[in-house]
Amino acid sequence: MAWFKKSRKPLEGPADKSSKIPEGLWVKCPGCAEVIYNKDLATNLQVCPKCGHHFRLSSVERVRMLFDDGVYEEHDADLASTDPLQFTDTKPYSARLKAGRAATGMKDALVLATGRIEGRRAVVCAMEYGFIGGSMGVVVGEKITRGIERAIAERLPVIIVSCSGGARMMEGALSLMQMAKISAALARLDRARLPYLSVLTDPTTGGVTASFAMLGDLNIAEPRALIGFAGPRVIEQTIRQKLPEGFQRSEFLLEHGFVDLVVDRRELKAAIARALGFMLPAAAPQAKPVETSVSAATPSEFETTA
Ligand SMILES: [Zn+2]
Repeated sequence: MAWFKKSRKPLEGPADKSSKIPEGLWVKCPGCAEVIYNKDLATNLQVCPKCGHHFRLSSVERVRMLFDDGVYEEHDADLASTDPLQFTDTKPYSARLKAGRAATGMKDALVLATGRIEGRRAVVCAMEYGFIGGSMGVVVGEKITRGIERAIAERLPVIIVSCSGGARMMEGALSLMQMAKISAALARLDRARLPYLSVLTDPTTGGVTASFAMLGDLNIAEPRALIGFAGPRVIEQTIRQKLPEGFQRSEFLLEHGFVDLVVDRRELKAAIARALGFMLPAAAPQAKPVETSVSAATPSEFETTA
């Protein structure tokens, strides 16, 4: 008589080698290779608690993070591109738009919102990388411009959070025109003596860097963000030289005077609030519009880095 009876079937063999951990519960940090519990990452604003690697935020996460209690009012959410050039590369632009909408639930690559940052009302534009690489087309340009115009009308500061591969090629010259359009609107904001803070996140490149992202009264970068015009590979091929270590990263740009501050995301909101407190009158700025003379535009303490 046997001591043990094998009543149950042996366990399944190694047919299914894939992990049994539900998808998205754990994330491996590209900075330190640490495996992080997703909830810990979420409570830490998507910053690795071990090494401080900044994961990319969606535009909605970004505005929630900046506004008090995550409360904000969105504007012009229904603006959508009409594919004016009927453009097709490897696939039609209309199909890319459709895919972007399905992936993000948004009509285009930007959230325009108003809300309060430590009690002070502000206009925030946040770019969405998940929508065709956060590229700037007609809709992004129009929404930012409307945001700036709203800020001028209501005497509010503007914060634009860039996260973009640049101008949207599928809209050709129409996308490039947004650079001039937004820059002109920012000039009007400047004449109205209202502050504009530019927040550069990973990545900020191409026509976005070449226009509004570098025009802030303060240009604030997140740590280790890729910020540049052309990519490093293109530059290396053009100048036939090896680029220095950390080239086009926030810290390198700070050292060379291209950005004013590098701020950890966990301190970003406080830094923005502090800067706004310094630049704007202390009394509730939304109560009564202050009359300013447009012609008397003396250079402010914060000169634009245009
Ligand atoms: Zn890490």
